[in-house]
Amino acid sequence: MSTGLTNSQRRPAVQFVNSDRPAILGGPPVRPSGPPAWPPTDPALTTTLRETLLDGSWGRYHGERCQRLQSLLAESHQVEHVVLTCSGTAAVELALRGLGVVAGDEVILSAYDFKGNFQDVLALGAIPVLVDICPDDWSLDVAQVAAALGPKVKAIIASHLHGAIVEMPALRAIADGAGVPILEDACQAPLARVHGRTAGIWGDVGVLSFGGSKLVTAGRGGAVFTRRADIAQRIRLHVLRGNDAYPLSELQGAALIPQWEFLPEWNQRRSVAVEWLRSEFTKSTAPPQAGVHHTTESAWELSPFPVASGDSGSAFYKWGMRYESREADRLTRNQFAIAVRAEGIALDPGLRSLHKIHSARRFRTAGDLSEATRADAGILTLHHPVLLGDESDLAQIPAAIHKIRTHAKEIREWFVTEGRSLELGEAGVV
Ligand SMILES: *Cc1c(COP(=O)(O)O)cnc(C)c1O
Repeated sequence: MSTGLTNSQRRPAVQFVNSDRPAILGGPPVRPSGPPAWPPTDPALTTTLRETLLDGSWGRYHGERCQRLQSLLAESHQVEHVVLTCSGTAAVELALRGLGVVAGDEVILSAYDFKGNFQDVLALGAIPVLVDICPDDWSLDVAQVAAALGPKVKAIIASHLHGAIVEMPALRAIADGAGVPILEDACQAPLARVHGRTAGIWGDVGVLSFGGSKLVTAGRGGAVFTRRADIAQRIRLHVLRGNDAYPLSELQGAALIPQWEFLPEWNQRRSVAVEWLRSEFTKSTAPPQAGVHHTTESAWELSPFPVASGDSGSAFYKWGMRYESREADRLTRNQFAIAVRAEGIALDPGLRSLHKIHSARRFRTAGDLSEATRADAGILTLHHPVLLGDESDLAQIPAAIHKIRTHAKEIREWFVTEGRSLELGEAGVV
């Protein structure tokens, strides 16, 4: 947490030692301590949490800390209305209610999206309409949204996932043309820049998550925000109906305020780390053999997602990469992930595509979802805590990948004979 590295300082010479034995085959792991912990400990958090303990406010909600957090979020997003919630999933549900979605309506979302978003649509009695994703970064394919529109569609969910950014200006134009509102899910991209605006405000309503693994965390929590008074009013009415069932507590507010203040700097550091890793992945596409030139595509099956630039800037929660095994004797995605995990690096399979884990009776589709089918089997994500590490933390990532690559055949054989039970199970259809 203590490094303030600049881009140019992050140029470690990565040494590939081919005889290094992969941890999964009994060798020493690249990172014996395992992936770095999250959330970080920071003196600012200790102070704010201690204050809530001492003044007794930690058992309450709707106190001054929640108010302060609300105004910070309102200011960052330039919106009038912010409602703090007990989770990001609750925020999505409230946002859909705020948009007036009711039973029998349809809601368009990406076939590759956070599972809770799909469940929230179902929870309201509405029907998910799944659309395909872009080939380069597996983000919502905006052209497919246009093809999926119909008279029953009452909302479009656009989630910025794995460091990718949905083409919001184009989506906004399509949505406006059809008179359908957008729910912009910034749970993985707090304070990301999306074509000159803060993530969440291209939508009619935006959501954030403060869940345990998220970039800003209180273990649990979320927020929903909007400029539209009608949406805010519907959300408040629902929240206050009967019991106050969705609140964030003062204790959570105390944990979140300092993190929200650090966030721009942390996002910046993570971006620098991702840029370095991207260049390292491209450079190290082949073992250093004289005269052999390989491109990322031909020699290595791992292609990190492109990084937003210009008037956009990503936040990196679980940075995405495509894994493709082109040859029969290559490791499967899951085998590769297990082997990298054994090295102490948190490079894991991403989400399941929604059409692969839910019965087709539960949703409508537009298009053949071929990219989402590829993503289901081929996505890997790098968990973010390591991106705040120092240069040696970062250098361990390409080193671990290289180690697995050079022993791919042996690891593959090991899985066939001994490691079969270790392979991640496929989730059933629900
Ligand atoms: C985490 C997340 C949510 C909400 O998650 P909670 O764990 O309920 O806070 C919603 N959408 C996306 C894209 C997420 O990553």
